[in-house]
Amino acid sequence: MGQSVALGHVIREGRSFEVPADNWRSAKVGIIGGGVAGLSAAWKLKKLGVEDFVLLELEKETGGTSISGSGQPVGYPWGAHYLPVPFRENTELIELLAEMSLLEGRTIEGDLIVKEQYLCRDPEERVFYKGRWYDGLYLHAGESEDDKRQLAEFQKIVDTWVNWRGSQGRRAFVVPSASCSDDGGATGLDKLSFAEWLRQNGFTSERLIWYCDYACRDDYGLKLEQTSAWAGLFYFCSRVRKSGGESQPFITFPEGNGKFVHHLTNSVSDKILRSHMVVSVVPTEKGVDVVCLTDGQVRGFHCEKLIYASPIFTAPYVIRGFADDAPFAANAFQHNSWFVTNLFLKDRPKPRFSRDFPLAWDNVLYESPSLGYVNATHQKGIDYGPTVWTYYYPMCHEENGRTKLFNYTWRDLADVCMTDLARAHPEIYELTDRIDIMRWGHAMISPRPGFIWGEQRRKAMEPYGNIHFAHTDLSGIALFEEAFYHGLRAASRVLNTETPSRGASETKDE
Ligand SMILES: Cc1cc2nc3c(=O)[nH]c(=O)nc-3n(C[C@H](O)[C@H](O)[C@H](O)COP(=O)(O)OP(=O)(O)OC[C@H]3O[C@@H](n4cnc5c(N)ncnc54)[C@H](O)[C@@H]3O)c2cc1C
Repeated sequence: MGQSVALGHVIREGRSFEVPADNWRSAKVGIIGGGVAGLSAAWKLKKLGVEDFVLLELEKETGGTSISGSGQPVGYPWGAHYLPVPFRENTELIELLAEMSLLEGRTIEGDLIVKEQYLCRDPEERVFYKGRWYDGLYLHAGESEDDKRQLAEFQKIVDTWVNWRGSQGRRAFVVPSASCSDDGGATGLDKLSFAEWLRQNGFTSERLIWYCDYACRDDYGLKLEQTSAWAGLFYFCSRVRKSGGESQPFITFPEGNGKFVHHLTNSVSDKILRSHMVVSVVPTEKGVDVVCLTDGQVRGFHCEKLIYASPIFTAPYVIRGFADDAPFAANAFQHNSWFVTNLFLKDRPKPRFSRDFPLAWDNVLYESPSLGYVNATHQKGIDYGPTVWTYYYPMCHEENGRTKLFNYTWRDLADVCMTDLARAHPEIYELTDRIDIMRWGHAMISPRPGFIWGEQRRKAMEPYGNIHFAHTDLSGIALFEEAFYHGLRAASRVLNTETPSRGASETKDE
């Protein structure tokens, strides 16, 4: 399944394409890329009353890394699959959720109450270890006194960071990350890896280290030693409102964040041109000319402003003159690779022991380089019969992961998935009707040490003439909220209106 690799790579060839004189059109704003960032920019433009814009998407469908599939018994994700309930300060995101009728009201303190059917139902997570499933992601079974002490110590540090406020009253870690404090006391964590930070703080517990490594692989597609310590702590602290509190609950649907993609797409459907691959962007005196390939034709758009919501590393290939006079190093924006498998099961495996923890939404294998699988029927309460399991595998354990990923055949990748799952579910072969596989060559931006608080990311936030960048890459972290924030930010900036609220930046100690 998936992306048009050969087509996508056409931009590397640096070919020039002539647009026939009668194939030009004008638009006040052009948007390149129909992922969450581009769609959010379009959603915002429409809300601001702008009608004269066009969104150009390379693929046959919108959604980028948040696309989903549809079918029986339910839809299923191909990438992003959940959104934590936003803090009350994230007003634009709350507006989106309200528009989608996901909200029930507010607590006395003003925090959101999301309708129960959209919050991940129990059991949320389980972990498979040495032949048995256990509740939760952290493996408590068999832990020593020292493991317990280290986990408590780690949680104490997380609490300290949740409480921490910089000189402007900002939190160290909050979503969207644009709201985070830029005080050196917090940003200094970006200089070292999460593995190094754990070592410096005396953490040696195998299961705690596994838990932190799992977090990095899950949210960033990187191993512990490849991930910035700032990003590692961001995972644990940014969605916790008060110290000692739980992380915000998850909003999820069978099709994952595809639900948001469909809503955003429907709200601007008349502005979207699918199967339109932008091959060239030419800054002009009046604005920006955009050249696309579509269905064997070359089409052009004269735009006053452009929102560049496709991955940042593509800028030098696409924007004329960018490479000669680069305002920032686009190759600093490094992506990692994943493959994702959707398994269509005629039935679920039976529990192997009466005391085995039951099938959950997220099912993780402790002794595996994969991230396990998400069960698509979970949220619908369909606990018997056919289902779809979405299996996630980041290529972070391999040198040249992307090249290897594209050398593997469907059979190779299906074998990786099935042999991994067979350890927990020996009958998986008999139960599986179909195996679809998606290779994400450029899956997520990698928050390696030094990137998030480095120069290149900061510079890329600035417009390049009339071109405004808007991809989630700009955060150094691939999340729905980050893509949404940058989409809205770019839309506001092209119109010179206020930038979106940055969420919980000024929250006081509570
Ligand atoms: C396996 C996986 C799991 C994930 N899980 C989660 C999760 O559970 N929760 C979460 O919040 N986030 C998750 N993410 C991250 C999330 O998907 C992204 O942060 C978000 O969707 C990025 O949106 P975007 O618009 O910035 O970029 P993208 O999704 O990269 O979209 C860019 C779009 O631009 C298009 N494009 C590229 N080049 C061109 C061109 N030349 N011309 C026209 N169009 C072009 C692409 O086709 C694409 O549609 C996951 C990502 C992956 C890969």
